Amino acid sequence: MNDNERLPNDCFALPRGITWTPVDQALEQLKNGLITLKQSERVTVSFCVGRVLANSVYAKINNPPFTNSAVDGYGFCGPATDDVNRLKLLSGVAAAGNPFKGTVSEGSAVKVLTGAVLPDGVDTVLLEEDVQSKGQESISFIGPLKVGANTRNSGEDVSVGERLFPAGHKIRPQDLALLIATGVANVEVYSVLKVGILSTGSELLDEGLYYLDQEKKGKVFDSNRPMLLSLVKGWGFKGFDLGVIPDDKRILRAKLNNASSEVDVIISSGGASSGDQDHISQLIQSEGKLENWRIAIKPGRPLALGLWNDTPIFGLPGNPVAAFVCALIFARPALGILSGCGWANPVGYNVESSFNKKKKPGRREYLRARINKDGKAEIFSSEGSGKISSLSWSSGLLELLEHEEKVSKGQLVRYIPYSSFEL
Ligand code: AMP
Ligand code: MG
Repeated sequence: MNDNERLPNDCFALPRGITWTPVDQALEQLKNGLITLKQSERVTVSFCVGRVLANSVYAKINNPPFTNSAVDGYGFCGPATDDVNRLKLLSGVAAAGNPFKGTVSEGSAVKVLTGAVLPDGVDTVLLEEDVQSKGQESISFIGPLKVGANTRNSGEDVSVGERLFPAGHKIRPQDLALLIATGVANVEVYSVLKVGILSTGSELLDEGLYYLDQEKKGKVFDSNRPMLLSLVKGWGFKGFDLGVIPDDKRILRAKLNNASSEVDVIISSGGASSGDQDHISQLIQSEGKLENWRIAIKPGRPLALGLWNDTPIFGLPGNPVAAFVCALIFARPALGILSGCGWANPVGYNVESSFNKKKKPGRREYLRARINKDGKAEIFSSEGSGKISSLSWSSGLLELLEHEEKVSKGQLVRYIPYSSFEL
């Protein structure tokens, strides 16, 4: 049987006579069409992790703020020769937070501990372990030691006025350490993006899991909305639960009108196709601005990208796998631009395939995959877009490009771990 004979059974075959937008083109359109929402606020640094800087941030003080000892040992005025060196030992200690109050004259040494400010007269530190002999009055060691050995200069890491981060940087815990070390007390960050999430479909149950059997007949639990809400929350946005909307144009229109005045961006799932009950795409097309909805992607077509009262809307497909993949591929980078941290392409890795597979050219495919014990990529046994279990089974996606027609065992394939989507 050749590929053409199999086509009628392939629900994802691209219909003839329709122009399908390649994924990269749709992504490019999104990237160029969206702008960062400018609202910002000032927050104290202790609350800035996960927030996106609206301005560049500069160091207020040096790091380290003063020259100090990098080790436990003895401070003296360097250098030391490559012969035996003997230094008079002063009483007292320079400890972190407890400076030595006296002056160390040439030929003398004083005990210094890591992090202690160098006492007056000290520019070099002998490591405790390198002491050859130590008496009450003196220490000796074999050099050489250069001036400045085992010390950390003020500003050697960061100097005052240096740019720490550009605008658009999303603050991570380690960045908080740098901000605090360099004396930055507060930062200007973009307001947290408000993302409204709704599900459409008269078959969806949304009031928890406890329904009578007869109420459940022909219905399915709404699993997309909770999934998408937690996705966007995980990305650092404010998720707004817009509920489930039945397949009713009037109710959906009212919901979109309402939502577009409350949130910065809307993500819906379901009803994005061209069927009679697919009101999202119909509504955006007739009353909003539909940018794109026939994208050559599997899983995922159809996808409605558009504007409703100037609020961007991502009309994801209803099938949970497609909704998830499209959220990662399209919504995530787009939300990045809107929220100020910019477009981020997911990082992928070339790994060996452990399987053979035929693929229809002309569309991009994302397969649910994971790395097996031999370090090779394996894929879920079924590609069905309703197989929610494949999402939990997998640890990432395999990206097969438009021109590819098959994957053979041993071939390198691009694996994008979910962690590359901040999952
Ligand atoms: P649609 O895109 O509206 O044609 O829906 C495609 C398939 O996905 C149908 O089988 C729907 O029942 C299912 N589906 C749509 N929305 C959801 C949802 N929120 N949760 C679970 N399944 C859904
Ligand atoms: Mg539907």
